Amino acid sequence: MAVKHPEPAPSIAPPDERPDKPEEACGVYAVLAPGQQVANLTYFGLYALQHRGQESAGIAVFDDDQQVRLHKDMGLVSQVFDQDVLERMPGHLAIGHNRYSTTGSSKVCNAQPVVLNTRLGPFALAHNGNLVNASQLREDLREIASELTSTTDSELIAFAVQRAVNRGLDWDPAIREAAGLCRGAFSLVIGTAGSLFALRDGHGIRPLVFGHLGEPGDGQWVVSSESCGLDIIGASFEDDVQPGEIIHYLQGEAEPRRSLWCDEPAKLCVFEMIYFARPDSRFFGESLYSYRVRIGKVLARETPVAADIVIGVPDSGIPAAIGYSQITGIPYADGLIKNRYVGRTFIQPTQAMREAGIRVKLNPLPDVLAGQRVVVIDDSIVRGTTSRKLVAALRDAGASEVHMRISSPAVTHPCFYGIDTDSQDHLIAARLTLEEITAHLGVDSLAYLSQEGMVEAAQANSSHFCTACFDGNYPIAMDDDVRSSKLMLEPAGIAASLR
Ligand code: SF4
Repeated sequence: MAVKHPEPAPSIAPPDERPDKPEEACGVYAVLAPGQQVANLTYFGLYALQHRGQESAGIAVFDDDQQVRLHKDMGLVSQVFDQDVLERMPGHLAIGHNRYSTTGSSKVCNAQPVVLNTRLGPFALAHNGNLVNASQLREDLREIASELTSTTDSELIAFAVQRAVNRGLDWDPAIREAAGLCRGAFSLVIGTAGSLFALRDGHGIRPLVFGHLGEPGDGQWVVSSESCGLDIIGASFEDDVQPGEIIHYLQGEAEPRRSLWCDEPAKLCVFEMIYFARPDSRFFGESLYSYRVRIGKVLARETPVAADIVIGVPDSGIPAAIGYSQITGIPYADGLIKNRYVGRTFIQPTQAMREAGIRVKLNPLPDVLAGQRVVVIDDSIVRGTTSRKLVAALRDAGASEVHMRISSPAVTHPCFYGIDTDSQDHLIAARLTLEEITAHLGVDSLAYLSQEGMVEAAQANSSHFCTACFDGNYPIAMDDDVRSSKLMLEPAGIAASLR
């Protein structure tokens, strides 16, 4: 009897099944700690950064014989690694990566770290962010085109480092030269047999922090996309890798060598603070939980409404809902329960199943909602499909009124710097007016946080943030092929009516 195998599934979901939230691009992690189980430590670090990418995970470990062992595969960190694998990766320096695809599709050849050989030995590179001149860089590197094994911009950065080393440069100048060829967002960790490098692009679009294991001066260093990756292994936070900075941690040296490789104005992605990064991660000296509560307070002052309860859409809407409640005096309640075990590889229900009532991620609590005028706080609206279903579910659960408050301004422009926000023609706020969105979602009222309020809540210099997905002011120019791939509606006149 012939056995028929199923057709391979497409690696990128079709447009109407793409996630209706901005999706984070990656998490990077590195440990330089002779005498420690660096693979295990990196495993835990990646586990803490799992929210930044759930498609693939990988770790490369350097041992004392200048050998590098690499293990990477599709899936969550806990699916890709087990104790047997980690025990087969002894060494003193590890580079780790969690991936969500923004350039290059979701398949194992695009998993990171990227490991390449050079005349100085092998190196491993992990990248968070997105280049906006990848085509140009590929053209610059055309002599190695036949060697490319992936479709990612990260591999291009690695080949630029390899070329510079093989032309005679040492690691530090080679990495600087490669970084100088890149335009866009890139937070990088790069490991060699005896050195760890951490580097951020000139604007510092994606975060990167570092800390130490043991006592200061022990020379045991950890670099992580977010500080929650330090906390999980008991590492002490030392500092951010600054925008435009390269830090060289040399094995055997007590202090890292810090210097700028370029000098540009800081433009941290404000969406990291609103939504992507974990609430226990610290930015500008405080947890994002505190920032998000403050956002809720500003939102309450800007957009008050008469209601009986405030609920947050788990997880990132909850701190803002608590802040909204604190200012208005409207009681906070848990009205939505989230299933936390739905990853990107989870088989999604069909449209028919959804219409039949399958709710995979969020389930409303009728005991809390019935007969209540509800303020529901969410962090953002991208395409509106999830919000619309959520509102219908709240009404099904008995809510008498549903007032939606969004703890960010309207998303009117796509991101090109490492966040998957879909193209502009899929962004509901780029196409419809506030009144039209209100009607489309079926809410009694809808209001967004103002851009001024978002920055006020950050208590930081407003010019230090990238806010392009709210105002179209892109801090880094994109190549035309990149720009035209997503900006379908420019100039976005309708977006102006939301401000
Ligand atoms: S465009 Fe938006 S999501 Fe992208 S980096 Fe800027 S603020 Fe962040």
